[in-house]
Amino acid sequence: MSIAVAIDGPAGAGKSTIARAAASQLGFIYVDTGALYRSIGLNALRKGIDITDADAVVSTLDDLKVELAFDAEGSQIVLLNGEDVSAFIRTPEVSMSASKVSAIPEVRAFLLDLQRNMAKTQSVIMDGRDIGTVVLPDAEVKIFLTASPEIRAKRRFDELIEKGQDVKYEDVLADVIERDYNDSHREIAPLKPAEDSHLADTSGLTLQESIDLIINIIKENTK
Ligand code: C5P
Repeated sequence: MSIAVAIDGPAGAGKSTIARAAASQLGFIYVDTGALYRSIGLNALRKGIDITDADAVVSTLDDLKVELAFDAEGSQIVLLNGEDVSAFIRTPEVSMSASKVSAIPEVRAFLLDLQRNMAKTQSVIMDGRDIGTVVLPDAEVKIFLTASPEIRAKRRFDELIEKGQDVKYEDVLADVIERDYNDSHREIAPLKPAEDSHLADTSGLTLQESIDLIINIIKENTK
């Protein structure tokens, strides 16, 4: 029997790092759904579309194929019309574009089956914003992973600096706050904890402590 674990939470809570590590320890597939919204955001930017114009963004979906695949190490890659765009979707510009396009109902509907199908035949840890509430409402375990905006911005800032990107902490914090606002105030599938989710606040925890916490929650609830 396959098991589904839904991990939702705001940007920069450490969801992807923690979920990836937990999945590898538990032998589950890790699915990063943010990469899907990012690929649609990237595609709109590449086409020079005004991302605040929902009709224009929706028109880009007509001839668009988004797929998830896994490389030799088991890391997820995202394919946009067959092109591996994984290396292009982590910039602040694409983050903001993803946040904007994700508020469009047609974009969410476009990605729904792809996400659900991933969990049909294999045990997954899927992270996103609406996994426990909309995508996998019957998930065996639901976790809402969060941390303070300042801590989340500091983590994202360190990550971007390490990747050689030229960013300011204040700008990253402003982005985090703006994305939190967009994600939790949109009409469709807003970011909020599922009623039956476990709340995990990683503000005062190290990465290893956070991973251990999540693994414990999963083990406790799948016995
Ligand atoms: O998780 P990540 O920061 O990569 O997600 C990028 C953006 O995609 C988020 O800010 C959010 O707006 C959107 N998203 C979403 N639903 C998901 C995953 C991501 O709306 N399940």
